[in-house]
Amino acid sequence: MSTSTPEKHFIPIAKPFIGAEEETAVLETLRSGWLSQGPRVAEFEKQFAAYVGAKHAIAVSSCTTALHLAFLGANIQAGDEVICPSLSFIATANSIRYVGARPVFVDVDPVTFNLDPAKLEAAITPRTRAILAVHQIGLPAAMNEINEIAQRRSLLVIEDAACAIGSVYHGKRIGAPHSLMACFSFHPRKILTTGEGGMITTEDAQINERLRRLRQHAMDVSDVARHQSKNVILERYDEVGYNFRMTDMQAAVGLVQLGRVEGFIRRRREFAAVYTEALSEYEWLVPPSEPQGLRHNYQSYMVRLKGRSPISRDDLMQALLDRGVSTRRGIMAAHREKPYFSNRTDSMLPETNSATDNCIILPLFHQMSEEDQNHVIEGFREVLRGK
Ligand SMILES: *Cc1c(COP(=O)(O)O)cnc(C)c1O
Repeated sequence: MSTSTPEKHFIPIAKPFIGAEEETAVLETLRSGWLSQGPRVAEFEKQFAAYVGAKHAIAVSSCTTALHLAFLGANIQAGDEVICPSLSFIATANSIRYVGARPVFVDVDPVTFNLDPAKLEAAITPRTRAILAVHQIGLPAAMNEINEIAQRRSLLVIEDAACAIGSVYHGKRIGAPHSLMACFSFHPRKILTTGEGGMITTEDAQINERLRRLRQHAMDVSDVARHQSKNVILERYDEVGYNFRMTDMQAAVGLVQLGRVEGFIRRRREFAAVYTEALSEYEWLVPPSEPQGLRHNYQSYMVRLKGRSPISRDDLMQALLDRGVSTRRGIMAAHREKPYFSNRTDSMLPETNSATDNCIILPLFHQMSEEDQNHVIEGFREVLRGK
């Protein structure tokens, strides 16, 4: 083993924050005798609902399964169309396909990277049943405008809130009643993580009941209720259900993480402000926007390269990586992938194409040090010196 060359300073794009409390919580759960969808899942749901301001919260195995259940809960079926952005992680579009429906992609606003309400109506057909609004990388979508159109055209609204824990839309957190259902992710790239996991919030009691059944094979009584009953219970299965359960180990981690969320977001906002200030010297770099009344949680910090940039996006990413700074291309565009590609769709999404080709996500994570962030900023300066 060589000891002569010190580890090169390397900054990853993201890193989950897991403390001693999460470790203890998992160990206690393992020793408790109840490992899946038990008391800790119930407690996590209760506290999550209280945090976001929702009546009901239903824990599941991921945001992808949350979205799948949401479409089942909304009775979206084969032949239906659901409007959504292409500029999103591919799970957004896939979840619509799972129920046999068709995603219809609408272009995004070039400033917020969220659905452009002005382009929504042109995409509505007699088959359109719902709009899936995505709060991309943590910035809330234009829910008032989307809801106004949906109401007028008798469409349902569902939120892909995978990235939006703790984000605020005009005084209320995402997950509070801005739509029929909101779906969250607890994947390690998101702000609150349980390894894998998801949550659906809703105000609708019937949807709450149905999704609780569907996530456990459509069984009409929960394991906890059966366990606690003094009488023998013979359960029923009235429809085809799924196994989308969260484990109690995941929920135990989630409960600890929920207590940290506001601190996580505060720190991310500080890092974001430093990036924005430091990179303002490059007039060809556009920092993220935060429209009046909205709180960005900075799930990711993404900048856009404008046309007059002295270096291409991909060359900039490579030059930064050569200096130990990991970045990611901005948000993908689902319509460019094989299951969704068509030339016609491509020609209708100029802002989506431009955004996916010209954005970069910079490193941002809770335990990042000032020194780490300076290393990123210095990386930019070095690459661009003399350009
Ligand atoms: C991460 C993400 C998902 C998928 O979440 P999983 O929990 O990994 O299934 C869906 N939509 C968006 C916008 C995401 O960022």
